[in-house]
Amino acid sequence: QHYLQRIAAIDPQLNSYVTVTSELALAQAQAADQARTDGKAGILTGIPLAHKDIFCTQGVKTTAGSRMLGDPKNPFIAPYNATVVEKCLNAGLVTLGKVNMDEFAMGSTNEKSYFGASKNPWDTNRIPGGSSGGSAAAVAADLAPFATGTDTGGSIRQPASFCGLTGIKPTYGRVSRFGMIAYASSFDQAGPMARSAEDCAYLLQVMSGHDAKDSTSVDRPVDDYVAELNQVAELNQPLKGLRIGLPRQYFGHNGLNSEVQSRIDAALQQLQQLGAILVDIDLDTTDAAIPAYYLLAPAEASSNLSRYDGVRYGYRCENPTDLTDLYSRSRAEGFGDEVQRRILIGTYALSAGYYDAYYVKAQKVRRLIQQDFLRAFEQVDVIAGPTAPSTAYQIGENLDPVSMYLGDIYTIAVNLAGLPAISAPVGFDDNKLPVGLQLIGPYWSESKLLSIVHQYQ
Ligand code: GLN
Repeated sequence: QHYLQRIAAIDPQLNSYVTVTSELALAQAQAADQARTDGKAGILTGIPLAHKDIFCTQGVKTTAGSRMLGDPKNPFIAPYNATVVEKCLNAGLVTLGKVNMDEFAMGSTNEKSYFGASKNPWDTNRIPGGSSGGSAAAVAADLAPFATGTDTGGSIRQPASFCGLTGIKPTYGRVSRFGMIAYASSFDQAGPMARSAEDCAYLLQVMSGHDAKDSTSVDRPVDDYVAELNQVAELNQPLKGLRIGLPRQYFGHNGLNSEVQSRIDAALQQLQQLGAILVDIDLDTTDAAIPAYYLLAPAEASSNLSRYDGVRYGYRCENPTDLTDLYSRSRAEGFGDEVQRRILIGTYALSAGYYDAYYVKAQKVRRLIQQDFLRAFEQVDVIAGPTAPSTAYQIGENLDPVSMYLGDIYTIAVNLAGLPAISAPVGFDDNKLPVGLQLIGPYWSESKLLSIVHQYQ
């Protein structure tokens, strides 16, 4: 009730929720109370959360921020729960509702949502970041204690950075993608967004694990994130000997805002005081990540989004004259500009005449980027840098697609390589806007990343 009241009072200014599931939440809360009375409560029983509106929720509208699934006349009501949603319910978590996002998770600002941009609680004239901007705005304004997000090219980390939160994108395969509406399947990965690494650890624990329903989810035991966090916290000089790599290509980057740079430098000094050793390294493939991603992710999107044809489910245009008209008008009216742009780019890159020149080449670049990281991890334990080159910008300030893509410089390579990475708040710029530090780790190092940030926090 506390959160539902806050949402009713504050969310009209933030537009972070697409759907508030009040009745469901109260019923789940009551069941949680009962579980507590019966001595059957787990540690998270009764704690509320918000889900990014990309996760299928049984009986509840699931829109992916698109008219295609969220048209008011015929919204998509998912007939089943995503595995992530199911796991949260099994842990006793209470669903407050579904939160706003860029359409099909394509974007960095939340302005691409069919439901309008969500606002940054630190300054409501600014974007909260994207695509998990609704998750970030809701948690930053305390309209949920934590939230789920998804990260295909930075969509957990960048909004976490812009809203002063901690968010972790796990290793590809750690969290099931079943029931998570696909954007670019070989990149998409779900993770938690919260106000601390500790809260992220609790939620990631619930979300993680092998799922027979997702063939890319990995059958490997899940670490005890919370226990490891607490173990490290008991050490005297907790980060002693930890080697943190600083890629020259990240810091020499001329798009990097100087205030962001100075907050990152200060955070790195603090990590050094906790015992870490800073090592300069090279990631020579840094500049190749944006072009490779913006070919491969649209290629996968063009294939994934072919299911929205106006026939099976979702938006259907009125009075189609024939089948072709039905397909083309349903898609033209149901998808926004950015989604259409990516379908066009992806279809072009996959077409017979250009496949080798674009798609195959980008796949080779993807492998080189992965190898670059693996080489770096022979020298260092984790890699640090800014999460984004700037802090949150004004709504409407960055509408040119390419300039928006360039803001993904620090986050996107991680998804090309499938690595885990965390963003943590490290202070504010002169406009009192949060700055985020990113730490990238080797495969399956979620526990280490959470522990380092926990020490810092
Ligand atoms: N900003 C990136 C894009 O527009 C990343 C999105 C994401 O991670 N879902 O594709």
